Amino acid sequence: MNEYVQKIEDLAKEMGEVRIMEVCGGHTNTIMRYGIREVLPSNIKLISGPGCPVCVTSQYDIDCMIELALSGVKVATYGDMINVPGTKMSLKDAQAQGADVKMIYSADQIIDEKDRVFFAVGFETTTPMTARLLQQGITVFCAHKLIPPAMRVLVQEMKIDGFIDPGHVSTIIGEDIWSELDIPAPQVISGFKPEQLIKATYVLLDLIKNKEKEVVNEYPEVVFSKGNPIATKIIEETMKVVDSEWRGMGTIPQSSLAPKDPKLDARIVYKDILKNVVSQENKECRCGEIVRGMIEPRDCKLFGQGCTPENPQGACMVSESEGACAIAFKYGKSLSE
Ligand code: SF4
Repeated sequence: MNEYVQKIEDLAKEMGEVRIMEVCGGHTNTIMRYGIREVLPSNIKLISGPGCPVCVTSQYDIDCMIELALSGVKVATYGDMINVPGTKMSLKDAQAQGADVKMIYSADQIIDEKDRVFFAVGFETTTPMTARLLQQGITVFCAHKLIPPAMRVLVQEMKIDGFIDPGHVSTIIGEDIWSELDIPAPQVISGFKPEQLIKATYVLLDLIKNKEKEVVNEYPEVVFSKGNPIATKIIEETMKVVDSEWRGMGTIPQSSLAPKDPKLDARIVYKDILKNVVSQENKECRCGEIVRGMIEPRDCKLFGQGCTPENPQGACMVSESEGACAIAFKYGKSLSE
């Protein structure tokens, strides 16, 4: 594919099994679409981590939004979220029952709708748009997730020799923050083209081989040392860091954001409606293990056998651009093949 494939092969001959995790659904998509796992030596494993925002949103948060919608509260969220199955139904099902659920592609679509609650999901990349809505007085049910705290948990739980850091997230939070995380594994920030990911893999292998824990920015055209100061400023002005429940990972301290203004925090404003929400995950769905990189989609007995993008039984089958099961289904093979 390019000169770095040969360089990877040469390095890999001198190494045992190496496990590299990418924590970005966009990276997973490129890796699968272009068959990057197939061109790597067998001892170099690329593992998909919690890089899909739809997938890591907790069942409880989805059920809360469904409860709000069924109670007559107008809600809005990004496209894929309305298809994620909750305990009893999805937001789309609630919409079919008459609930006012607006599917949006941009936060600007509801910037004048102060009577609508925005279900905010996503990583650092989409957080500035939520901050902008808060500036305009829109009430938010915030389920944003911060990637660095999740990486800290994962590297303690399982063998990960290095991380491919997410490119889009890094455009917001910057390069420097990754070095400050004290993660005992090297990291390489990568772009989304196949050649960028292959080069990032080579750079990471070289760091792993030389036992260096540093962070290398292989996406310098858009990722700067301090990130995007305008975006981080409006986030700091409108939101605060809080603990958060992740699907499959439990509660991770300081891994989410909430509106600073309690009058705009839907969890507080609608606490009476939400107090009786009880959630239960589909016991047959193994999304929790998939987002932690512990199993592959084909390890789930429902994969393609009752669970498909048209009829998702779990969150990982919803987003064809970022969900591990949906991507594996789309490209017709396991992520590890
Ligand atoms: S195949 Fe479906 S049911 Fe199985 S883990 Fe993936 S989303 Fe869940």
